[in-house]
Amino acid sequence: MNYNLLINEIIFLISSLGFIVCLKCLASPKTAKLGNLIGMISMFAIIIIPLINLPFNKIIFFCINSLLGIIVGIILAKKIKMTAMPQMVAFFNGLGGLASALVSILELINYYNNNLNINNSDIIISFLGILIGAITFSGSIIAYLKLQELITSNTIIMPFHTLITVLLFLINFILIFIFIFTKNILLLNYIIIFNLLIALILGILLVIPIGGADMPVVISLLNSYSGIAASIAGFLINNKILIISGSLVGASGIILTRLMCQAMNRSLFNVVFGAFFIKKNNEIQIKEEQHMKEYQCIDGAIILNNSENIIIIPGYGLAVSQAQHNIKELTNILKSREINVKFAIHPVAGRMPGHMNVLLAEADIPYEILYDLDEINSEFENTDTVLIIGANDVVNPIARTDKNSPLFGMPILNADKAKNIIVFKRGKGKGFSGVENPLFVMEKTGTIFGDAKKSLINLTNEIKNL
Ligand code: NAP
Repeated sequence: MNYNLLINEIIFLISSLGFIVCLKCLASPKTAKLGNLIGMISMFAIIIIPLINLPFNKIIFFCINSLLGIIVGIILAKKIKMTAMPQMVAFFNGLGGLASALVSILELINYYNNNLNINNSDIIISFLGILIGAITFSGSIIAYLKLQELITSNTIIMPFHTLITVLLFLINFILIFIFIFTKNILLLNYIIIFNLLIALILGILLVIPIGGADMPVVISLLNSYSGIAASIAGFLINNKILIISGSLVGASGIILTRLMCQAMNRSLFNVVFGAFFIKKNNEIQIKEEQHMKEYQCIDGAIILNNSENIIIIPGYGLAVSQAQHNIKELTNILKSREINVKFAIHPVAGRMPGHMNVLLAEADIPYEILYDLDEINSEFENTDTVLIIGANDVVNPIARTDKNSPLFGMPILNADKAKNIIVFKRGKGKGFSGVENPLFVMEKTGTIFGDAKKSLINLTNEIKNL
């Protein structure tokens, strides 16, 4: 019996279980740190174990490459701001997809260079690996550029967009079948290059029409694709751990995608292909005579001090200004005056799932006063004042009415139904989706202009003086 092999298999099995436990732990903020640790240890074991059987020169090669990867990873993790986390995830997804596509290409070439016997299903799997991996790569890069605002986050549709997309898919499959039927080795390299290019273009064509507001769903979907591509690569190089971890990423990505679609009340089809069917963008414009009423901090302080119940809606601007600790102070003062304060958390507020929960937990704001959209939406009608801190899209009433808006159908927090609305924002900036928000020009809305942190500090001081 080969004991080395047996030990390898046992460690692989335990590490696979480690990944499953890791995912389970990540589902709750209380166990998330432990989950990360278990995931890291499992990944480390999987990387290290196969090295034992490698020749020395390959181990050195592996160590140098790993070291480079570790250095880049540490620098990126230290430099990236919390608000830029989605683009980092998109970038890593893309690299995962590219790696899987390259494995598929190498395996295919390897089979033929070594005159190995390859059946048709393996050929199809290899080409699927190239297709999915390369779509994931170029699609993720577009998602990265949109999120980083290096290109517009608006919908971009090119002439004959749908037709070209469908044709490219068809050409891709036709080329695969030409190879299967001819088995012409001379054609292989050309078909691989063609299919790779086609898949890269398809990734761009599929993601570029999707508006910024839908990017979180797209990233989650691409994450799932990168898992599927890794799983395919695992089948090709007969690596069980890659198959298992790839399937876990694929499945969890698709579950998260589904949950996000549900939170936005949209079908996945509508998120991914919705833009292809928008005929004309009749986006609602704010009329010139409708302007944003300005409040000074003292106005806000008086309104809040005279309220019996208040709902605070945090959004992306809170994360930008890092005002979570200042909200805590304001909340404490209001509560000490027997004012009922609740927080309304929208599932896609901020720039990543759970973003607001993480920020508020950082400031030790108790979980008991945080309410999800479904729990709190019926309470706005009886609320004296809503305080919107750097949120925009998640309170945009257009989502209920404007069928042409990229926000249409997304459930929003019913802030517009409250008696008074106080908004913190720096200027007239639009939300992530680039859509105007009529809530800001309503009669009962007043805006305190400036960075949310500074405004909160001033407003809290004013309340202390009342
Ligand atoms: P939002 O629609 O992006 O609006 C943020 C608002 O904050 C803007 O109106 C901006 O106005 C204001 N702001 C920015 N910096 C500020 C600062 N320092 N102080 C005060 N105000 C500031 O944010 P949201 O309502 O949270 O909605 C999230 C959006 O991001 C949704 O469209 C969602 O689909 C998308 N998204 C979500 C995720 C996720 O997973 N949560 C990931 C990616 C994208 P000014 O410029 O005028 O200040």
